[in-house]
Formats: sequence, structure tokens, C-alpha cells
Amino acid sequence: MKTANKPRTSGSGTKRNGAAANGKKMPDVNGPAGDGKRPSLYANVIKQFDKAADMMRLDGNIRKILASTMNEIIVNFPVKMDDGRIEIFRGYRVQHNDVLGPFKGGLRYHPAVNIDEVRALATWMTWKSAIAEIPYGGAKGGIQIDPSRQKYSINELERITRRFTFALGNNIGPEYDIPAPDVNTNPQIMAWIMDTYLQMMPPHERQRCIHVVTGKPIKSGGSLGRDKATGQGVVYLIERWAEEQGFDLDGSTYIVQGFGNVGSWAARLMKPHGAKMVAVEDVAGALYNPEGIDPDDLIAYAKEHSDIFGYPDAKPIDHMAFMGTKADIFIPAALESQITALTAPMLKVRLVAEGANGPTDPDGDRILLERGIHLIPDILCNSGGVIVSYFEWLQNKRSEFWDLDEVDAKLKKKIVSAYERVQGVAHHYKTDWRNAAYIVALTRLENVYKERGIFP
Ligand code: GLU
Repeated sequence: MKTANKPRTSGSGTKRNGAAANGKKMPDVNGPAGDGKRPSLYANVIKQFDKAADMMRLDGNIRKILASTMNEIIVNFPVKMDDGRIEIFRGYRVQHNDVLGPFKGGLRYHPAVNIDEVRALATWMTWKSAIAEIPYGGAKGGIQIDPSRQKYSINELERITRRFTFALGNNIGPEYDIPAPDVNTNPQIMAWIMDTYLQMMPPHERQRCIHVVTGKPIKSGGSLGRDKATGQGVVYLIERWAEEQGFDLDGSTYIVQGFGNVGSWAARLMKPHGAKMVAVEDVAGALYNPEGIDPDDLIAYAKEHSDIFGYPDAKPIDHMAFMGTKADIFIPAALESQITALTAPMLKVRLVAEGANGPTDPDGDRILLERGIHLIPDILCNSGGVIVSYFEWLQNKRSEFWDLDEVDAKLKKKIVSAYERVQGVAHHYKTDWRNAAYIVALTRLENVYKERGIFP
């Protein structure tokens, strides 16, 4: 029997994740699929794109532009390790499109980062900002690295981050391309990037450039509510879905894959609704308890032990048992391609709310649709992160500091109206929600291209 991909999750616990690729064989940077073992993620994006472009009859010329990335930057850079050795790292930044505003998107630190994956993630960012109606284009980047403490000290991680920022140079900038956290990166890493970028500027320009990254620590110019924003957005949309379905979240059950920033916040924010987390999985394994696993308790445990492995108040289960756990809602918040031809038939849920980017591949989508399982697609569902990044960027530009209630209220308004746009289009075209989300994004991009025209 084929085995499913183990989830590769963000945040806590990468220690059981195998060796880093550094110093080992590097993937073919020009090849379509990153590591040659997994199918191309970018091919999935193009499948999704073609389906929507055909249905909405997207202009043929604009279609060509949007089916390609604008810039792909690969940097190989040396960093001195604590023991005096030099290691060479490979970093990426793919800028998909900037017709709606500066390039925007996260940086991930993961051994499986490769050009194909980054291309796909950058393209999803363009759609995401277009759907949310925030003035950004799409980008993504990362370093091919296993960032676990067992492998790199905190000082090494800092030097790797600073040297990567230096290598990117003017390929990022507060009005040009604005990185943010993603898998295995966090506010501390954003602070190092900001500081390094500012050191490279003329002194009199530094103070007005702190918005070169978002997701910063609060004291360094971050926004309240950015840390929880992606998980909060997921939960706002689950609330909205439940309201429409006449479904009572009180007493409902949910399962979460990935217990990093997005998964743990979503899990925690479901709790006040009286919903019970009956299973959870991270890179170290999966846990099950039909009586419910307390998210706050599990977060405290994972902080102490670096992952959820060994948590005493739940039973360990394997990956397949996790995917087949009966619950009302599934929140995938790990990495890509988890809901596939193999696993989609096993799901026993009513709703999939995609906290991760690309957790469902096109086969998985088809099966969910056939099985009548509702889906809130990633480019809508997890857009809370980039929406609050936009709020942080605005606050920095205006030298303002908004309180948490204001951030939350604005996030809710923006993400719920994006939901309504997608819902309207799904209804109009009688199509599924992923396709509808694409049509919303592509329509906005098409209109802007038509107004602006193509230079020269
Ligand atoms: N990495 C997050 C995402 O995939 C956030 C991006 C951002 O805030 O720019 O949406």
C-alpha cells in the first residue's frame, strides 16, 4: 500500500524530521518538481488556474501573464557556524505578480523548500491579496534548511537570516517586496531581517523603512493581533459557515493537522465556541481523545517538549487513523498536499477549513466535491495573516498603533466580505468554492490589466 505524506508542520518540533539538505544533494533548481519525488505543486496551481480561467473566459493575453512568475531569485550564500566551519545555504524569493501592489508573502525555513514549491506559494499569494482586496501582489521565499535547535544554534539562525537578507539586497523593500513569517519563521526572524535591511540603508532613510517586513515583534513595530491573525481568520470563517448552515459550534468537534502558529491559534480560538478538538497531528505524530484535547494545555506541553509527542491526556494514533477521525470540522494547518486521492476518501468531516497553503491537491478537491464535503479554500481561508500584515504595514507608514479590538474588527470585516464575494461567484457560476475564489481573484487582476494595459 502507498503511504501518505507525513505532515511537515510549522512551529514546534522538527526534530524527527530527517536531515537537512544543506551540504547534501541540492534539487535541480530549474526542474519543474522540487525534489523529484513529489509531484509538482506549481502544476497543481496551473490546473486550478486553468479551470477558473476557462470558466470565466479570462482574456488570453492576461492569462499568459498570470500563468507565469515575474522574477525568481536564487541566492547561495556562506555562513560561519559556531565551530568556525562555513556552510553554504540556498535561499529563494519568487515574485509572481505586482500589478495590484508591492510583492507580498512569507519566508519559510524548511528542508523541502524548492523552486517549484516557492513558485506555487508565490502565485497563491497573488490570488489571496486580490480576493481580500488588499493592495498587494504575490511573492514567497525561503531557505532550504532544517531550523531545529538540534541542528542550528540561535546565533547560527540569526547569522543565516541576516546573511540571507544581505544576499536578497534590494530585491526586497518596504514599497517593493515585503516578507513576513511562514512555516518555521517568526517575529524574531522578522526583527533580524528588518534590522539587517535597515543597516544597509543610508542612516537618514532608516526610520521610514521598518515596514520592509511584517509580522515583527510588537516593540519593533509589529501589530497587535498579527500573531494569531491567520488562525483568527480561519475561525471567523468557520463561524460564518456555521451560521449559514444553521450548525451549532457548541458541542461540535474538530481536528487539526499542524500545531504551529496557525493550527495552535485556530485550535485555541475554537475553544470559546464550546467546540472540542478530538484529534491533532504534528510532525511528531497524532493524538486522539474523544472527550476533547484542551488546546491551551497542549500548547503549554508543546512549548516545553518542543512538539506534541508524549502528551499524556490523549492516545497516540497513526497518520491514517488521524485522517479518518470522525469530526465536524477539519483544519489542515500543516504543509501542502495532505488531502489527496489516497486520503480524501477517508475523511469523516463536514467542512474542511484550509489554514495551510495548498493542503488539498486537485484529486483531493474532486473527491471532496463528490463526497459533498464543504471546503473553505486556502486563498480565502488563511488570508487573515496577510490581511493583518497589511494593517501592520499601514500602521508603520502612518506611525500609528491600533488596539487589538480595532485590528480584530477590521480583520473580521475584510475576511467576511471576501467570503461573501466568493460565495456570490460560486452561486453565479454554479461552481465549487476554490474555483469561485480563483474567479474572484482573476477578475480583479483582469480588470486592472485592462485599465493599465501592457507596457510598451
Ligand atoms: N505566510 C503567510 C501566508 O501564506 C502570510 C503572508 C504575509 O503576511 O505576507 O499567507
